[in-house]
Amino acid sequence: MAALHDKFGRAITDLRISVTDRCNYKCVYCRTGNEGALYGDLPFGEYLRMARVLIGMGIRKIRLTGGEPLLRKGVVEFVRELAKLKPAIHGAPDAPVRGGQIGSWADEVVRRSETGEPLDIALTTNGHMLADLAQPLKDAGLTRVTVSMDAVDPDRFARITRVPSGFDNVLAGIRAARRVGLGPVKVNCVLLRGFNEDQIIPFGMFAREEDVVVRFIEFMPLGEDRVWSPATVVTLDEILARMGEYRPLTEIPHAHSETARRYRFDDGIGEIGIIAPVSHPFCGHCSRIRITSDGKIRTCLFSVWDHDLHAQMRRGASDEELAEFIRGVVEKKEERHHIGEPDFVPASRTMVHIGG
Ligand code: SAM
Repeated sequence: MAALHDKFGRAITDLRISVTDRCNYKCVYCRTGNEGALYGDLPFGEYLRMARVLIGMGIRKIRLTGGEPLLRKGVVEFVRELAKLKPAIHGAPDAPVRGGQIGSWADEVVRRSETGEPLDIALTTNGHMLADLAQPLKDAGLTRVTVSMDAVDPDRFARITRVPSGFDNVLAGIRAARRVGLGPVKVNCVLLRGFNEDQIIPFGMFAREEDVVVRFIEFMPLGEDRVWSPATVVTLDEILARMGEYRPLTEIPHAHSETARRYRFDDGIGEIGIIAPVSHPFCGHCSRIRITSDGKIRTCLFSVWDHDLHAQMRRGASDEELAEFIRGVVEKKEERHHIGEPDFVPASRTMVHIGG
């Protein structure tokens, strides 16, 4: 099958699959606290078939997400089945930007074509149930894990998640992930002005002490309560300035399709990343599509519609017909988001129901 490209020439290599839109946390900026799951989920075998077809079309990375993906029983077995799939070789990995070594990129192209790159299987989780699942997930073939954590202060953490005493579980989950080799473990923190931006420097310390990559994410208009304003966004420039008061940072190269800009502290200990979709959009390098828990394809977080891949399966479509459908959907991938612009139209689903 031909590799997937959209009409703007972007190669589609990354797939996110939400396996449930249920979540055991009620983070204040994400959920109202009243809504539960809004959409159903599918048997894992159906996600597996979607993944298989998409891998045949050039997908090389799959990230499982939700809702909270670890709430789904059978997720470990699903990872084991995914790990049996091998990506098709469709051209080269992304060239590094900002000072990366072209030589190492070329070496990577050769290595990939000689060895057949294994599928990169990642997981985004709130970490609450990770301590017990890290080892089974690793054994099943999970490559790496990203844990969401918006405060290193346990009380603040409880106020954000609206779950008492979750912090210890999440910390244990992060440590277990590191211990079993699901690294580099990334810890994602969404910053909201007036709420947790005082956590920037403590997170810098946390990155160094726990040997994890802490990544700050600019807040996007994707919450269930639809409350967002530009003023609530703590921007990349502000984060850098604040962290610089703690220790000097140097930017390090990152691949085009990588969402985060990466920085290392002056003494080489600890890495932080900043994902800045609001102040520094990276839509031009977007390589992602998403499958929602109920089997719809979304071509952008901010899509105002989704495309019912599961309905195609239900009506008995062959793999070739699914691929044709997917190609037609990817053709419609949006050029960019319009956050903060007068013509911004809210996405048809919010983050927890899309799969972040
Ligand atoms: N339950 C999992 C978790 O906590 O990582 C996966 C789903 S959660 C929706 C995925 C990520 O989306 C989390 O890191 C969360 O902080 C982030 N997120 C949720 N709402 C967001 C928003 N409005 N802007 C930016 N990130 C958001």
